[in-house]
Amino acid sequence: MTKLTVDTDISGEIIASLFPEQRERAEIFEFLKSVVDRYSNHIPSLKINPQMSKAEISEILSCYDFDSSQPSAVVLSDVLNMLEQGIVHVTSPNYFGLFNPSTSLWGCVADFITGLYNPQLAVWSHAPACVDIEEKLVNYLGQLAGFDAKTVGGSFTTGGAEANCTAMICALTQKVKGFAQHGLQIQAKRPVIYISADSHLAWLKIALQCGLGHDAVRLVDVDSAGKMNIVRLNAVLREDLENGFMPFMLVGTAGTTNAGSIDPLRELAVVAKEYDLYFHIDAAWAGAILLSEQHASLLTGIAEADSFTLDAHKWLTAPMGTGIFICADKGLLSEPFAVTTSYMPVGDSINKDPYLNSVQWSRRFNGLRLFLPLAILGRKGFSKMIDYQVELGDYLKMALEQNDWVVVNVTTLPVICFRDVLNGDVDLILEQVLTANKVWLSSTVFAKNKVFRTCITSFRSVTADVDNLITALNNARSLVYRTAITPDQSTLEQ
Ligand SMILES: *Cc1c(COP(=O)(O)O)cnc(C)c1O
Repeated sequence: MTKLTVDTDISGEIIASLFPEQRERAEIFEFLKSVVDRYSNHIPSLKINPQMSKAEISEILSCYDFDSSQPSAVVLSDVLNMLEQGIVHVTSPNYFGLFNPSTSLWGCVADFITGLYNPQLAVWSHAPACVDIEEKLVNYLGQLAGFDAKTVGGSFTTGGAEANCTAMICALTQKVKGFAQHGLQIQAKRPVIYISADSHLAWLKIALQCGLGHDAVRLVDVDSAGKMNIVRLNAVLREDLENGFMPFMLVGTAGTTNAGSIDPLRELAVVAKEYDLYFHIDAAWAGAILLSEQHASLLTGIAEADSFTLDAHKWLTAPMGTGIFICADKGLLSEPFAVTTSYMPVGDSINKDPYLNSVQWSRRFNGLRLFLPLAILGRKGFSKMIDYQVELGDYLKMALEQNDWVVVNVTTLPVICFRDVLNGDVDLILEQVLTANKVWLSSTVFAKNKVFRTCITSFRSVTADVDNLITALNNARSLVYRTAITPDQSTLEQ
């Protein structure tokens, strides 16, 4: 028999290569500290659009063939350089863009701690403390929405799309007989879902993932305020029933992505009841308003829903990859998601193993990204931030109107769509703004017209930043007016 030997020198080297020892760690943390300080001092003055061309990114990446090893200092410095120069800075106070927040330091700390311990939240028994923290957050938010503390449930997801997908699976399970067992193969009628034409079109992908296909999604017309038109909804429902379809789900959007419109939730609840539809509310961004003492009532009606989606990685400052699905009755979750395997620890029916009640299997501890700031700031801290951003939105609306921009959407929420008073070309003006590279905003379609879209997204934004945004817009417009060949009313107004 040969004696087995294991080279302990090599094992020590392996460990130190993956988790450096104290002296090297101290250097890394010193470096990271300087990175964070530099970041917080410079974030307002960074050029908002990427400074690096694709060729420059390629050049840096060409040094990485992964055959040889590289000093950590070189790799870290390359990556940080690419992050500073090679992205749109969504955490800048000058970012008035999509629902991509500035992240709290607590959220970043949460990511680090989670990475360090790497708890596995698939089963309760592997990470009871973490599963209970997430459950507490889900229950807290569900109760803010008015769900019963005894039955509320749900899970952290990777984002709004996964949370909405969870909702569709629950809806199919509840309303389409035999779905969890047999899928759609045995259905004589085709299940269809109702959302507004201004809702988030991740729903199309979700319909596909659930085996329904894109055209099972009925895009119901919106009214002039961007809210689902109830008369149209009733008409489409009746028509579908007459034509042999099986309506099973109604989704209200609370805070449309283009214009912050909130569907008439209470009226939708009545329709859902009348037609026996599963009622979900997609409040991915604006669901955060539940934490606001002043504005939570904007979501009145949410208590009538079977479930809702809230992204902590939008208005609640969590790093990317933090959505939440919250349902009124957690009993909904076990039928579609429960499976048994030989290799997983025995299912814990009392504490509800997350992998048996949600889409994911292995599960990262993303809830910590919300737990830390919520525990440290309290609801009041978030309420203050949200109410301030709503007020800043009002300030922006006023400033726009004083500067010959016309606000076209009506909402309390800080998403503002507008056009130039003389209908100057949106694309041309926007191109000038983005080329000047001081602020970031986008365009969208609202009420069938191309318009500018701004959102107060960063907790760092203050009135001076809004003033900069107005200046950037005014300058871009003057440039476009000046370069127009015949800048008379007839070409500008169309
Ligand atoms: C952002 C958003 C989504 C998609 O969420 P992700 O987190 O990007 O997956 C869905 N619905 C609404 C209303 C949204 O604003």
